[in-house]
Amino acid sequence: MRLVDRYGRRITYLRVSVTDRCNLRCIYCGTDFQRLRHEDILRYEEIIRIIDLFVRLGIRKVRITGGEPLLRKNIGFFLKELSKIDGIEELAITTNGILLEDFIDQIKEAGIRRINISLDTLRPERYREITGRDEFYKVLNGIYKAKEKGFDPIKINVVLLKGINEDEIMDFVDLSIKEPFCIRFIEYMPTFDSNRDFFISGRDVKRMIQERFKLIEVKEKDSLYPGPAIYYRVEGAKGKIGFIDAISSHFCSRCNRIRLTADGNLVPCLFSSKKIDIKNPMRSGAKDEDLIELILKAVKEKPSSHMGDFIKDSMYMIGG
Ligand code: SAM
Repeated sequence: MRLVDRYGRRITYLRVSVTDRCNLRCIYCGTDFQRLRHEDILRYEEIIRIIDLFVRLGIRKVRITGGEPLLRKNIGFFLKELSKIDGIEELAITTNGILLEDFIDQIKEAGIRRINISLDTLRPERYREITGRDEFYKVLNGIYKAKEKGFDPIKINVVLLKGINEDEIMDFVDLSIKEPFCIRFIEYMPTFDSNRDFFISGRDVKRMIQERFKLIEVKEKDSLYPGPAIYYRVEGAKGKIGFIDAISSHFCSRCNRIRLTADGNLVPCLFSSKKIDIKNPMRSGAKDEDLIELILKAVKEKPSSHMGDFIKDSMYMIGG
């Protein structure tokens, strides 16, 4: 079966947040750190049931996110269970990397080959300013451990913030030259409670890089279900750079994703405030057919493009 929304977009990619907890407090991710109650968070078997239904409906790529997914108890076990679901062609995880060294073997054993690591600066003191924590070297060690263990691609997500880390663009480009990493510059997306002045457009960043380097566009061949990034390589570089221009160049017409939050809501679009509760019906004994109806409803609620110009919730709640 195929999940197709009202605008003919085929939905193949599910992002699943497994926790709202995070061991960082990034300045752009949301400030209202109210924790979900334990009983409000989906249990692993509930998440697996929902993912299983999604896969029956045509989801082929699943990314585990959070909060910080590696903080959730028994995450290794959960990933292994997920890898047993027939029909998932790409299983991926997004992490801040702090616990990556500790979990890299479990991630590998679960058959995950795709890791996105968030790192917005290459300077330890600035890392503390952005994230509120002194964990820079742990993240760096995690990245190199992933490399040593043969993970490919290793994508490094860099949210560029005006006046904070824009002076490091070339340092990140240098990293893509020396290492086989894929550095992805992500446009900052304003949330309801973060500083809207942080925004820098990806187009401006690309122009700055092109003043120094020749960029060769490369197609993302390693994913059957590619995301919105446009990739380039500096001539002779080992790695790539990518641009995710979520604000300036709407890629909504190509949107293939839907989200499940840690507290059991389906989120049709990052920018809309619509949520469809799937947890409570499930806990009240809904049959698979009823839950499928809710999934179809969520897909139907996908707007044609961004609703509004800021995200109505904190990113650590929705999963980014
Ligand atoms: N803890 C994990 C991590 O750090 O990757 C997963 C959750 S985090 C919410 C997922 C991604 O969302 C990270 O790459 C983070 O940088 C990004 N993010 C959070 N707030 C953002 C914002 N306002 N604009 C753009 N990206 C944002």
